[in-house]
Amino acid sequence: MPESPQQAPPAARRRKDGLVILHTGAGKGKTTAALGLALRAVGHGMRVCMVQFIKGKWQCGEHHAAPLLGELFEIHPMGDGFTWDTRDREADMRRVRAGWQLAMDKVAAGGCRMLILDELLYVLSYDYFPLQEVLDFIARKPADLHLVLTGRNPPQALIDAADLVTEMVAVKHPYQQGIKAQKGIEF
Ligand code: ATP
Ligand code: MG
Repeated sequence: MPESPQQAPPAARRRKDGLVILHTGAGKGKTTAALGLALRAVGHGMRVCMVQFIKGKWQCGEHHAAPLLGELFEIHPMGDGFTWDTRDREADMRRVRAGWQLAMDKVAAGGCRMLILDELLYVLSYDYFPLQEVLDFIARKPADLHLVLTGRNPPQALIDAADLVTEMVAVKHPYQQGIKAQKGIEF
């Protein structure tokens, strides 16, 4: 059977444990796809840490579900109170810094196999955090750590550094019909 065009030729196939993954685009599904990866990884006994940089006003289902998965999955919402207010930009930047530091501490403690930095791409696109620091981390992160970043407008340097980039396309969204956010779908 002919190989699919997306498959690399055998000589180029190699194993890489720690991928850099971006979920981006204007369509819904970036954060929920990251949660799907977390569920899949936890099922293999892998420890997953998710830091959420911009948390919505709702208590999301994942915050209640994470403890049900035991100690393998932790979610840290850091964005509560994120203002996006130019007058309080310094406070927002400190909040982002605290989230980043928490993530770095979790990785430094060892054993983390997947780190999800949810909405970090938004934070970068508004210059609330230095891109270079993220690129430096990618260059020196543990080889077996999968790093998943979500949000819109990833800088080209991150796309270049990533192994897997998926863009969600908004074909239709219930919001366009005036349908409100729903439990289990949006939060
Ligand atoms: P989700 O968390 O549902 O996977 P997301 O991470 O792709 O969504 P965000 O930019 O983080 O998207 O925005 C989160 C919220 O905005 C979700 O409640 C989602 O339903 C809503 N949303 C995402 N894309 C759209 C869109 N194209 N139009 C309207 N609302 C959207
Ligand atoms: Mg999201």
